[in-house]
Amino acid sequence: MTVYDDLVGQGPVVAQLKTAVEAARQGVSGMTHAWLFTGPPGAGLATAATAFAAALQCRENQAGCGYCADCHQVLAGTHADLEVVRPQGLSYSVKETRELVLRAASRPSGGRWQIVLFEDADRATEAAANALLKAIEEPPPRTVWLLCANSPDDLVMTIRSRCRLVTLRTPAAGALAQALVQRDGIDAQVAEEVARAAQGHIARARRLATDPEARRRRSEVLAIPARLTGVGPAVMAAEALVKAAEAEAKALSEELNESETGAMRQALGESAKGRMPRGTAGAMKELEDRQKSRATRLKRDSLDRTLLDLATYYRDLLTLQLGASVPLVNMDKDHELRTRARQSRPEITIRRLDAIMECRERLDANVNPLLAVEALTVALMGS
Ligand SMILES: [Zn+2]
Repeated sequence: MTVYDDLVGQGPVVAQLKTAVEAARQGVSGMTHAWLFTGPPGAGLATAATAFAAALQCRENQAGCGYCADCHQVLAGTHADLEVVRPQGLSYSVKETRELVLRAASRPSGGRWQIVLFEDADRATEAAANALLKAIEEPPPRTVWLLCANSPDDLVMTIRSRCRLVTLRTPAAGALAQALVQRDGIDAQVAEEVARAAQGHIARARRLATDPEARRRRSEVLAIPARLTGVGPAVMAAEALVKAAEAEAKALSEELNESETGAMRQALGESAKGRMPRGTAGAMKELEDRQKSRATRLKRDSLDRTLLDLATYYRDLLTLQLGASVPLVNMDKDHELRTRARQSRPEITIRRLDAIMECRERLDANVNPLLAVEALTVALMGS
């Protein structure tokens, strides 16, 4: 086992990171101090950055061995010389960034490097990005910044141009299915189905494979096109879609909150009877606020993903209409899709895909979700 094992279908990235770690071991001068990990959501940006951090801190001959104390601590997020920044809300402030930059400038306490792993770096506000830029321009010799963002274009040019790029791609469904079977012990047929359905999003695939509720919600969403027989049903379908997305976000939120709150209570010294020591209420309240802000973000992300699930239906329809020789995402709907493909034309399907993308844009611009999705389901009905 090595720290790179969780990087599914990212051979070239693993090779690049291994080379960089070797160079870093030759001495500080061979090291690039700012790295930008980019790739589609779910491809494993944070996983790749974490693996890299572990390999940089690892002291064994085989860098990133996966079993030494440094590797373990980095992977568990407890290494003293690794700070993981995970913006919980929709943006990351300049104040937070300045404090971060100060901490990042300190010398490593025992590790080889002082590493900051900044997830969703694109959430940094413009002022925050400027504060970050200064730190990246003149890095202390032992500080390494690992930034993650879906696209390099999400970051201001000045930061982007100072980072070495690590580009992940969408893992192939085959590689993803294989990982689910080998690492998670998922049944081969289920693994193949969910790998396709998740469109290369690893965590999503794992969730679909292990959570029957998540699978049920997804199939509810994919049942929507067949239900759009009039304005009444379209309005009802919109409500169902928004509710499915909210249920998904709520389940995820609760899961994250529960483990976080438990860990925090323990760290703050919860008594055996569940009492909290004096003076810890503020920290608990702060955690609660962060969780609320994250819940908002998860709701937004979940609705967006639900729309992308819906888009796979029309993507399959178009595949059949054009006779393209690529596999369907929704194999279980093969019969329904073939029938509908004959009843409609590619031009119409493309218009429907456009309507979904337009709805995503409107949601991004803060239009009321139910109104935006209602407009969508009505548009999906017309010809
Ligand atoms: Zn190690």
